[in-house]
Amino acid sequence: MRGQGELALLAQAAAEGLTLAEFHGGTYKTTDPAPAPVPSWTVVVEGGDAAVKKAADAVTRGRILGEASNLARGLSNEPGNTLTPREFAKRASAIASEAGVQVDILDEREIERLGMGMLLGVARGSVEPPRLMVFRYDPPGAPSTPVLGLVGKGITFDTGGISIKPADGMEKMKDDMAGGAAVACAMRAIALLKAPIRVIGIVPATENMPGGKAIKPGDVLKSAEGKTVEVINTDAEGRLILGDGLWYARQLGATHLVDVATLTGACVVALGKITSGLYGTPDEWVEQVRVVANRAGDRVWPMPVFDEYKDQLKSDIADLTNTGGRPAGSITAAMFLKEFTGGLPWAHLDIAGTAWADEAKPYLPKGASGVAVRTLAELGDGGRAVLDAIEQAVRSLKRDGAHVLQRRLIFSDGVEQRLGDPLTVGVAFHQLCFLRIGHERDLRKRAGHRGADQHHKRRLLHAKVFHRLVRPAQTVHHRALHLRRELA
Ligand SMILES: [Zn+2]
Repeated sequence: MRGQGELALLAQAAAEGLTLAEFHGGTYKTTDPAPAPVPSWTVVVEGGDAAVKKAADAVTRGRILGEASNLARGLSNEPGNTLTPREFAKRASAIASEAGVQVDILDEREIERLGMGMLLGVARGSVEPPRLMVFRYDPPGAPSTPVLGLVGKGITFDTGGISIKPADGMEKMKDDMAGGAAVACAMRAIALLKAPIRVIGIVPATENMPGGKAIKPGDVLKSAEGKTVEVINTDAEGRLILGDGLWYARQLGATHLVDVATLTGACVVALGKITSGLYGTPDEWVEQVRVVANRAGDRVWPMPVFDEYKDQLKSDIADLTNTGGRPAGSITAAMFLKEFTGGLPWAHLDIAGTAWADEAKPYLPKGASGVAVRTLAELGDGGRAVLDAIEQAVRSLKRDGAHVLQRRLIFSDGVEQRLGDPLTVGVAFHQLCFLRIGHERDLRKRAGHRGADQHHKRRLLHAKVFHRLVRPAQTVHHRALHLRRELA
């Protein structure tokens, strides 16, 4: 293994790429046998035992991420008559629980008990009952917060319902559960990677069919949260089931939300088949997701969610409509979802264009792409994301006179902090930001420094970012204030 960059990252990328290339979608052909799998491959690294150990760990990591993506591809390739909501729940449950994730599958009665009128509304047009998959990864010793909540759209086949789709290309609508597959398979990877934080996965699964009991345009549904929705177009069903899913993730204690969905054709118009749309709030959280996705190999690009877009969802008789017309269709879909996030940090990935490859590439056969699995898994392994962000910030601090010595932060003013696991790093960094804001502002003010305010603002921004990422903020805040007093 040779190349530009850090050995571990190179080894991981090689293992991921090779694993992704191994995928064979499986077909229902009775005559063509599947190609023989690659017998073996070897990663050779230069250096001593430490380098080999590092590379071996990275290869394991790459294998886990690649295999999880392949499992998601397999699920999304399955035809709608095979992968009904019940079958999807059964297979996803096996995939995740095998790795030690706790899985609960709620049936239509339990869904009704939760008051999920939007999920039940969409399911009404089908003879296949809906399911709600609930995944929990709760590693021993993990802090009570943050809790990452992943929500994936699981429409196992989307006809559009009464607002039925044109026949052309409708067969692709079997992949409308790709977001749900991404969540289930990412939960598996998160457990195998032994992520340091708690993660909850929610996948509402149903068909969207135009049966005799189907919801009709103009019908009003009541969400589990209590908000009422006037259904203008029954083909905008993904946001309905996700709205109830996002609510449920909050009920189970999620503090940070990410949802993934093949949501809108409008997103495909905007970004094509290369890039997934990224929406959400606040900016710091969305940026964190963008950075992680970029590193994970999923192309995403941020889109605006300005409040003014919400005007397009005004209903005459209900709290909201489920569509906002043609202009900015992917954004108004996101605005709809935002109504169900309870103000938590939330990011939404629209994978309508990226979930399915029309052309084969060396690492990607034609068909389901397994998009977003690696992003969600790396986010779940969140300590790492936090750590990377912090290390970046540390680098900028270093220019300001702080030194990092063997995982200890030593500032020029003599404050020293030991860095432990990623989460305590976040907490420590947060403390230090506060310390240094106070300390530096005082020093600079005393010295009559003109740039003091500017500097203070920048520090405060750093502190805010980590305040949001690392939740035990109150305690930290108090400790920081206390330390500040001591310093003064
Ligand atoms: Zn639809």
